[in-house]
Amino acid sequence: MKKTVSLTLVGYILYALAVTFYIWVGADTSLPAELAGTKADPATFLSNKELMITEEYSKIRNTIYFLTLPVEWIFYFLLLVLGGARAIQGWAEKVTKYKTLQTGIYLFWLTFFSTVIHYPLSYLRYFLSKDYGITVQSYSGWMRDQVVGFWEGILIMWIVVLLLYVLIRKFSKWWWAIAWACFIPLVFFMMYIQPVVIDPLYNDFTELQDKELEEKILDLASEADIPADRVYEVNMAEKTNSINAYVTGVGGNSRIVLWDTLLTRLKEEEILFIMAHEMGHYDMNHIVIGITGYIVFSFFAFYLIHLSAGRLLNRFGQRWKINSLNQLASLPLLLLLVSLLLFLASPVTNAVSRYQEHRADVYAIELTGNAEPAIEAFQEITRSSLSEVNPPALVKFFRYTHPSMVDRIAYLERYVKEE
Ligand SMILES: [Zn+2]
Repeated sequence: MKKTVSLTLVGYILYALAVTFYIWVGADTSLPAELAGTKADPATFLSNKELMITEEYSKIRNTIYFLTLPVEWIFYFLLLVLGGARAIQGWAEKVTKYKTLQTGIYLFWLTFFSTVIHYPLSYLRYFLSKDYGITVQSYSGWMRDQVVGFWEGILIMWIVVLLLYVLIRKFSKWWWAIAWACFIPLVFFMMYIQPVVIDPLYNDFTELQDKELEEKILDLASEADIPADRVYEVNMAEKTNSINAYVTGVGGNSRIVLWDTLLTRLKEEEILFIMAHEMGHYDMNHIVIGITGYIVFSFFAFYLIHLSAGRLLNRFGQRWKINSLNQLASLPLLLLLVSLLLFLASPVTNAVSRYQEHRADVYAIELTGNAEPAIEAFQEITRSSLSEVNPPALVKFFRYTHPSMVDRIAYLERYVKEE
C-alpha cells in the first residue's frame, strides 16, 4: 500500500516536471511566419508590455491546468487504495440507517475532501487571475461562489447518486442502460432550469438597460429565428474584465445574455457581431447537436463503466474492502471512471466545438454583413482576457473549445479580402 502511494506521488512529480518543461521550453508558441504584420499578429494591436504579460500569463495558466488535471484522479484512486472510500461509508452508516441520508452524508464528505485537496491550486488560479487583472472579484466574493458551488454540487449529485444506486441494487446487469435512459430527461431538465435557477445563484441578471441596443439585438434575433423577446445583461464587471455573451436554455426558457463588461469595452457594431455569433450557435442547432452527441457518448460511457467497474471490483474489491458495486463505497471508482472517460473524449468534443465556433463566426459575418468590427472585437477580447496568441499543440488539443484568436482573426481577414 505504501508502495502504491509513493509510486503515485513520484509519478505525479515526474508528470509535473514533464508538463512544465513542455510549456516553458519545449512547445513552439511563436506566430506562424506568414501571419506576421497582419491583423492577426498581436504585435500590431498589443503593446510590448501587453504582449509580454499575455505570454507569461498563458504559460502560467497552462501549467496550472495540467497540474490540476490528474489531481482528481489521484484523489479517487488513493481514496480507494487507502480504504477511505469504505471508511466514509462506515461514517455515514454510523449516523443513520436511512440510505437516502447516508448518500447525502457520503457526498458531503467526498465533496469536502475533494474541495480541500483542490483548494491550493484553485486559490492559485484565482490569485494569479487577480494579479494579472482579469478577475477583479474580492476574495470574499470568490469564496462565496466556492461555497455556493460546494452545496450546489452536493445537492445535484445527491439526486443523481440516489437514483443511480437504486438502479444498481435493483438491476445489477442492466442498471447502466436504465441509468442512461433516465439520464436523458435529467440533462434536459438541467438545461431548462440552468438559466432561471442555477445561473442566478452566482450572478445578478437584469433586463438590458440600453433599450436601443436591445432592439437592434432582437432584430438580429428575429432574423435568426430565435424566440426571444428580451435580452438580459449579467452583472460581471465586479468580478472580471473578461468579455462574454451567450444564448442559453431550451424552449421557452431560451435567453440571450450578455455580460456588462461587453457593453463597456466594445463598440455597438462589435457587440452586434458577438451577438450574431451566439445566435449562429442557436440557429445552427449547435446546442442540440452537442446534447445529442453527449447522449450517444454517454450510452457507451455507461456501458464501459459497468464493464470496467465490475472487473476492477472482482480483482481489487477485497483489497479496497468493497465487495460489490451496490455499496456507496464504490462511488469514487465510478466517479474516477466518469472523469477519465470525459477526459479521453475531450479532444473529440473540443474539435467539434472548435468547428462549430468557426461556423458561428462565418454565420455572424453573413448576418451582420461586416467583418471589420469582428476583427476589432476579437482584438479587444484578446487584450482584455490576455488570450494566448498561439497555444501549444497539446494545450489546444485538450483545452481549446474555441479556435485560437490568431486563427479566428486570420480567417476574418481572408474573408474581407475575398469579398
Ligand atoms: Zn461561440
